Amino acid sequence: MNSQNSTIRDQWLAQMVAGRAIAAIAFAHLRRPKQRFWIREDGDSFVLDGALDWVTTWPLASVVLIEGYAQGRDGEQRDEIISLLIEPPKVDLTKSNLTDREDIQAGPSLALAAMGGTQTWPVAFRGFRVNGNQLVSRKPASQWLRENAVVSADANPASFGIARAAINEMASVGAATGQPAVVDSARELAAELVALRERAYQAADAASADPELAVTSIEDRTILRAAALNLNLRATSALVAASGGAAMMLSSNAQRRAREALFLLVQGQTADLRTASIAHLMP
Ligand SMILES: Cc1cc2nc3c(=O)[nH]c(=O)nc-3n(C[C@H](O)[C@H](O)[C@H](O)COP(=O)(O)OP(=O)(O)OC[C@H]3O[C@@H](n4cnc5c(N)ncnc54)[C@H](O)[C@@H]3O)c2cc1C
Repeated sequence: MNSQNSTIRDQWLAQMVAGRAIAAIAFAHLRRPKQRFWIREDGDSFVLDGALDWVTTWPLASVVLIEGYAQGRDGEQRDEIISLLIEPPKVDLTKSNLTDREDIQAGPSLALAAMGGTQTWPVAFRGFRVNGNQLVSRKPASQWLRENAVVSADANPASFGIARAAINEMASVGAATGQPAVVDSARELAAELVALRERAYQAADAASADPELAVTSIEDRTILRAAALNLNLRATSALVAASGGAAMMLSSNAQRRAREALFLLVQGQTADLRTASIAHLMP
C-alpha cells in the first residue's frame, strides 16, 4: 500500500480491497537471528533462494509479499531487506497438494494443531527469478526491524475475542449444570478482560497517534500483549476444566479455543514477547 511502485499498486490494491484478489505474506523469518532465505539482485531481476517455513494461503493467493535479506554477489548477507510481490504458480488443489518445480518446491499443507483450516505451506526456492518491476520496497534492515517492532508490540484483538467467547461459554456451562462457582469465576475473568482490553487498546491508540511514543512504549505494550495472551490461556483452560471430559471431544468448542490460544502464543512472536509470555507461566 505504501510502495513507491505505483504500477503494482494500481494493478493490485483495488482488487485486494474489493476482495477480488487474495494476498499472502511471508516475513516472520526476518526476526530470526539466523536466516535461511535470501534475495539477490541480478541485472533487472531478483533471484530467490532458500526456505520459508510458513506461508499461509500460498496455493490460494493471487499475490504473495515476500521479504528477505539481500544477498551480495558472493553470497554474503547484506543489511538490507528487499520486498517483492510475486504471483505464486497456480495449484489445482483437487489434483495436487504440491508445487514441484526446479525453482520452487512448496507444500503439502502443514498438519497443524490450530489453523488447520488454512492452507499453510512450507515454500523453498532455488534460483527462482522475479522481474525487477515486482519490487515493492528496499530498506536498511535496522529500519525494517525498528518499524516491525513498533507494529508487533500491540496485543492481538483476536486474543480478546477468543477469551471473551471462552468466558461466555464457561458462564453458560456453569449456569446449565448448576455450578454457581463456575459462573462467578467466569464473571471475574470477564471483568479482568474488559479492564485489560481497555488498557491495551488505549496504549495502541496512543502509540499510533505519536511516532515517538510508538517507539518508547514498545516494552510496555509488549507486556500488555503478553498479559492478553496469558488471560486467553487461563480463560480457555478454565472453559476446558468447566466442561469436563466432553472438552476433549474434537467436536467441542472448548478444546478448539484452547488450541487457538496456544497458537496466538507463537503467532507473530518476538523475542521480547517470548520472554514476557514465559515469565507469566513461572511461579
Ligand atoms: C500456523 C502458522 C501460520 C503462519 N503463517 C505465517 C505467514 O503466513 N506468514 C509469515 O510471515 N509467518 C507466518 N507464521 C510465522 C509466525 O508468525 C511465527 O511462528 C512467529 O513469528 C514465530 O517465529 P518462528 O516460528 O519462526 O519461531 P522462532 O524462529 O523460534 O522465532 C521466534 C522469535 O524468537 C526469537 N528467537 C529465535 N531464536 C532465538 C535465539 N536463539 N536467540 C534469541 N532470540 C531468538 C526470534 O527473534 C523471533 O522473534 C505462521 C506460523 C504458524 C504457526
